[in-house]
Amino acid sequence: MELINGSTKLLGILGFPVEHSFSPVMHNQALRYLGLDYIYLPLAVAEENLSQAIEGMKAMGFKGANVTIPHKEKIIPFLKGLSPEAQAIGAVNTLVREGEGFWGDNTDGKGFLRALAVEKGWLPEKKIVTILGAGGGARAIAVTLALRGVKMINIVNRTLSRGGKIAQRIIKETETEVFVYDYQEKNLADILRASHLVVNTTPLGMFPHTDSLAPLDYNAFKPGQLVVDIIYNPAKTRFLREAEKRGAEIMNGIGMLLYQGVLSFQSWTGEEAPVNIMKEVLEKNCEGKGGCDFA
Ligand code: NAP
Repeated sequence: MELINGSTKLLGILGFPVEHSFSPVMHNQALRYLGLDYIYLPLAVAEENLSQAIEGMKAMGFKGANVTIPHKEKIIPFLKGLSPEAQAIGAVNTLVREGEGFWGDNTDGKGFLRALAVEKGWLPEKKIVTILGAGGGARAIAVTLALRGVKMINIVNRTLSRGGKIAQRIIKETETEVFVYDYQEKNLADILRASHLVVNTTPLGMFPHTDSLAPLDYNAFKPGQLVVDIIYNPAKTRFLREAEKRGAEIMNGIGMLLYQGVLSFQSWTGEEAPVNIMKEVLEKNCEGKGGCDFA
């Protein structure tokens, strides 16, 4: 099949900037591997042009897209509707064509959970989870975990009010108990010790600032816990190394990145995504950048 022909269907990533995204290479290789007649394009659209871009994508018959920073929230008014996850998170990372318009989904939290299930056999029901950070990544993960039945979520963040906003969403949408702390909290070590899963969603430790670390008592980590960093560069952050030293099981952020893409791919094409091909592409793209292999 020619790479592009008269009936090739259009997909893309809408953001600003998008040059550094792994998604075009990952999705195009997966599409070629399965012989599907789609092309996935980088769509760098400045904020002030978002509404025209959406109208253009509708007019040109785009079948779907990913949405990234800074459009994940601002795109919502232009959509026909939202999945329960996108609604509860209040942000969209995937558009799927329906008739003349698009509906919005959020596969970030679902991708995180899928990675935990596939790589670690970890299931959310009745678990206690502590999340460091309260930004976009934390919100997607916390809300999705709550929708999937975790018992309790502790959010630890430098700015308490930002954690409080996520807590309000969770309380409104789910039965999960949620508590918000800052790093000065006296009982933080006990809170960490009692957690089945601890997730770092801050950028502390990300390349090139690989020595940075959230201010915690790392002796609270122990065998039997799962400790995840959603950073994937470097593959093993200082945070993960500290947890591993204390016997905890660890996982980095490449699985979340991979499976958010896998879930979007499946929504657009209706086909089972070639996970190993997509994983290979991500690993290759990380070469020479501190590494992204699975920890
Ligand atoms: P974000 O919205 O900017 O949120 C960052 C969070 O980290 C905020 O809560 C912020 O606290 C906290 N933070 C930042 N610097 C800090 C510091 N010096 N000390 C303590 N807390 C600090 O960012 P994001 O979009 O959630 O992304 C966060 C990280 O996750 C990035 O490294 C990103 O690459 C990674 N990520 C990975 C994936 C994946 O697929 N693996 C997906 C999304 C994000 P305040 O609220 O106090 O400012």
